[in-house]
Order: sequence, then C-alpha cells, then structure tokens
Amino acid sequence: MSQTFVIAGGGLAGAKAADTLRAEGFAGRIVLASGENEYPYERPPLSKGYLQGKDERESAQVFEPSWYAENNVELLRGTAVTGLDPAGHVAALANGQSVTYDKLLIATGAVPRPLAGTGSDLDGIHYLRNLTDSERIRDQLGEHKHLLVVGAGWIGLEVAAAARMAGAQVTVVEVAALPLERVLGRECAQIFARLHAEQGVDLRLQTGLHELIGQGRAERALLTDGSEIEIDAVVVGIGAAPADDLAKTAGLQTSNGILTDEHLRTSEPDIFAAGDVANAWHPLFGERVRTEHWANALTSGPAAARSMLGQDVTYDPVPYFFSDQYSLGMEYAGWIGPAGYDEVVFRGDVPGREFVAFWLRAGVVLAGMNVNVWDVSDDIQALVRSRAVVDRARLADHAVPITELVPR
Ligand SMILES: Cc1cc2nc3c(=O)[nH]c(=O)nc-3n(C[C@H](O)[C@H](O)[C@H](O)COP(=O)(O)OP(=O)(O)OC[C@H]3O[C@@H](n4cnc5c(N)ncnc54)[C@H](O)[C@@H]3O)c2cc1C
Repeated sequence: MSQTFVIAGGGLAGAKAADTLRAEGFAGRIVLASGENEYPYERPPLSKGYLQGKDERESAQVFEPSWYAENNVELLRGTAVTGLDPAGHVAALANGQSVTYDKLLIATGAVPRPLAGTGSDLDGIHYLRNLTDSERIRDQLGEHKHLLVVGAGWIGLEVAAAARMAGAQVTVVEVAALPLERVLGRECAQIFARLHAEQGVDLRLQTGLHELIGQGRAERALLTDGSEIEIDAVVVGIGAAPADDLAKTAGLQTSNGILTDEHLRTSEPDIFAAGDVANAWHPLFGERVRTEHWANALTSGPAAARSMLGQDVTYDPVPYFFSDQYSLGMEYAGWIGPAGYDEVVFRGDVPGREFVAFWLRAGVVLAGMNVNVWDVSDDIQALVRSRAVVDRARLADHAVPITELVPR
C-alpha cells in the first residue's frame, strides 16, 4: 500500500526533505505542512540583501511555486501541525483535519527569544525571523531614523550593517564585553567590534537594555549604564529557541531541541527531526550538536529524508555558516564545543580583513573562519574533520595550502 510521509515545517529543511524523498524515488504521498502562509524560503537574505532592498522577495524561495504540484508534494501553507499522536501515527492540522502518517519529519525551526522587562510590549519592537519581520524592519532603516539593536550576535550585527548602509543612526547594546564573543572568542570578536565602530555604529558593550519608554510606542531606551537614548525602533536579536513544543507535547525526548541519534531519528522510531529544531548526536564530535545554520537545514533535511526511506544514513557534517556585514564576508566551519579552545592562529592580513583564523585545542584545529578569503572552507572542514595535530608555523603561513596540513 502507498505510504504517507508528513513533514511538519515548510522551511529550508522541510522543503529539501520533500525534494530528496522524490529524488530518491519515493512514490507515496508527501504532505508538507507549513505554519507560514508562504512558499518555503531561505532566511539569510532577510538580514542581508532582502532587508537592504536589493533582493526580490521571490529570490529567497527554495523552489518555484509550481515545483510543489509538479512533484506531487501537498504543500499546505498557513497550516501548522498542531498535535501528534505517535502511537496512532496521526498528525493533527490547524485546519481541523488530520493525516495518518507512516513516517513524519519535524522541521519546525526556531523562534526568536523575546525581550523581557518594562516596555517590552510597546509597539516599534521588532524580531527578525520571517519575511514580514524583514519588511517591517526595512521601513525603519532610512536616514533620520535611530535604530536600537539589542544583542550583538549575527542577526543584530547584520541588521546594524544594513541600517548604517541605509543611513540610519544605530546604537547596539550588548551585555558581553565584545560582539559575537560567545561564538568567536575575544581574539576575533575584536575584529567585528572595530568594523562596526568604523562604520559609525554606537556600540555600547557591557551594557544592557534596562527599560523601554514611550506612549504606546518605544520612543526612548534607558540603558543599564544609566544613559537614555531617543529611538525610532528596536530590533531584538538576543538569540532563538528551538520550536520544539509540538515534540514536547507529543512526549518526544527534548533538551535544547528535539533529541535525535546520528540518523536524525527521534525517541519515536517513525519520527525524525532536522534543521534548527534538531539536537542530533554527532559521531565525529562525540556530543550532541544543535546549530541554527543555513547549511545544516540544507543538508539535514535531505539526510533525514533518506533515513525515513530506510537508508543507512549517518549525519556528521562539520558545522558551517556564513555572514556578510558591509564589505566583510566570512565563512566559519567547525565546532568548538563546551571544552573551548586554547589558542587562535591567524594567517593572512588581519588588519586588512583578509585572513583565516583557526581555533585550536591541544594543537588540533577545531574551527576555522575565512574572512574575505574564498574557496578554502572545504579545506578547513577537511582539516577539522582530520582531528590531526598541526604544525602551527605552517598553519600561520598563508603560502602553505590548507590541504597540505590535512594528513593523507
Ligand atoms: C534573519 C536570519 C538570517 C540568517 N542568516 C544566516 C546566515 O547568514 N548564515 C547561516 O548559516 N544561517 C543564517 N540563518 C539561519 C538559517 O536561516 C536557519 O538555520 C534556517 O532557516 C533553518 O531552517 P529550518 O528549515 O530548520 O527552519 P525554518 O527556516 O525556521 O523553517 C521552519 C518553518 O516551520 C514552521 N513551523 C513552525 N512550527 C510549525 C508547526 N507546528 N507546523 C508547521 N510548520 C511549523 C515555521 O513557521 C517555519 O516556517 C539566518 C536566520 C535568520 C532568521
């Protein structure tokens, strides 16, 4: 009898999973239920080209709208999966219907962490997760506008860059000593602090938002250093949480996302998870890894689809992400993990922002970031994967190809 596979979540991971199911010859029914009333789309442009008004809305789409019907994928837009009965293999939908599935993939992504505290319910406070959010923020980026960005993570800094490029005045508040310090560590975080300061961002470090004040709308911000600034809008970029409520309610094992094995299978044998929501066992690193990276959505959706088809899949990528801010483009590959790093080695021109940084622990490269240097990320990933102890002098020497540091 023909099988039914349901995918909860119509983002990149969900759409790519549907694509893989068909590419691998699955002839059964595919239901792709998307909480958003959109065709599946990619999010990186929302804080870059689309936010800056350079990219068209459609350019973010994973597939042309016609692709779904052509591939016999039942895309239910604006129809969230509202409940799961793992024992009965039934998914309840927001339109009141239910679908009996043979296998189910949860690819529900993540949701921005909300601001707490006085004034956090005022108008003019924006989060950035979907197309509409990006459009609303874009309206606040013009000249004569003063934007307050809360949180100097990737999204906050990309929004700050877009806002400065549009001529807006930008203040970024960050409780840590440096932007991106938690992800990059002090050595590389300084580079981003300098970049934004040079571009005229008022970076308030070791400073939090105490309170937002206004008549219905956020008009002033009181910061923890006692200063008060007048603002037109606020963008909150203080991280995201896995959208794992559906899984929790259904009794699946969760902890910082949906727990899966290296085959992306959850604690329920016929339910799989992929993308931002999955906290998957990573056999290479020997620990669980949950990332909120475009590349992970791109590859874990297909890996989960193959697993659903009964193929022997081991999902063990070297995590990879990218960012663009002003004229700085970077790629980062690797995983430092809770044990941290003990050294950073640079090669190239750090002041000129054309370099590669490597994070090491006991002489082993854990991660690498290429800044305005291209076509090296695959080599960095191979080096990370090798777990080899490297020669630091050769690592720091731009003339030595990274491939030569990877043991054969
Ligand atoms: C503004 C922004 C910029 C980014 N830039 C970069 C970047 O430069 N580089 C990088 O590597 N990564 C970037 N990312 C991260 C990257 O976009 C995500 O890792 C990726 O979108 C994750 O894909 P996903 O399919 O797992 O989840 P999502 O893209 O979040 O898709 C999940 C979908 O499921 C829907 N959903 C939720 N619950 C349900 C339900 N119960 N039923 C049905 N549907 C549901 C959601 O509404 C959403 O549409 C960025 C993210 C954002 C928000």
